[in-house]
Amino acid sequence: MPLTMERQVEQRFLWFFEDLLVCDQKGALLFEEPPSKDEMFRLPVAEYLGFHIYLCSLAHLPEGVDEQSLTPLRSLLVEADSERFNLLSRAAQLHTWHRNHQYCSRCGSDRVEHGYDLAAHCQACDYRQYPRISPCIIVLVTKGERCLLAHASHFPEGRYSTLAGFIEAGESAEEAVRREVMEEVGIEIKNIRYWRSQSWPFPHSLMLGYFAEYKSGVLKPDGKEILAADWWSPDQLPDLPPSFAISRQLIDHFVGQSLGQVG
Ligand SMILES: [Zn+2]
Repeated sequence: MPLTMERQVEQRFLWFFEDLLVCDQKGALLFEEPPSKDEMFRLPVAEYLGFHIYLCSLAHLPEGVDEQSLTPLRSLLVEADSERFNLLSRAAQLHTWHRNHQYCSRCGSDRVEHGYDLAAHCQACDYRQYPRISPCIIVLVTKGERCLLAHASHFPEGRYSTLAGFIEAGESAEEAVRREVMEEVGIEIKNIRYWRSQSWPFPHSLMLGYFAEYKSGVLKPDGKEILAADWWSPDQLPDLPPSFAISRQLIDHFVGQSLGQVG
């Protein structure tokens, strides 16, 4: 086969409009072509299903695309397997980063260009910016056969989940676990064990998942972030987050262990 006939790895394109993804008329996300105009920027994302995937950020909705074709990331993740979750999560985070950092954050220059390693490099002051990742802890606290689930102020009615919060500057992840639990529900915990992590694209978190056990104190929701909290038995759980979220996976793991299905 002559060199010119060698098969190129094909490209596919995710179209973002603001914080939404564009689907085609069949509901598919991967376009064979980039948008013909109104493209603000394009970034490489990952290899996926044998394609080079790029994200394209649109300044306006292209002709022929209506608002019904715009889909929130969260609803796309509900049905996604782990490979698709990773692709969409990475694409969304890179898109958010680039959208929110179009100028150098040190000197305000608009001469921000991208290097080979997905950093933005300011040629005016030599400052280099990387995609923002915000580490968070998320913890399922247990007390005997029950687990602590809380209703946060931004949750849908009736929804309960694990406790979570951002790690502060200068703080270890374990210190953040202790502090967040104390701040949000007023109890002390012990036996903090790291479990696993998850990249979480709302908007750019890295969730570090922990289990911990109740030590002392009485549950007292802070009334701001947490409106209600209680101890729940595995066989009588409230409305929970979707299964793609590590919060749900922590709960499912605990329930599985309680019922003798895991470990
Ligand atoms: Zn600069």
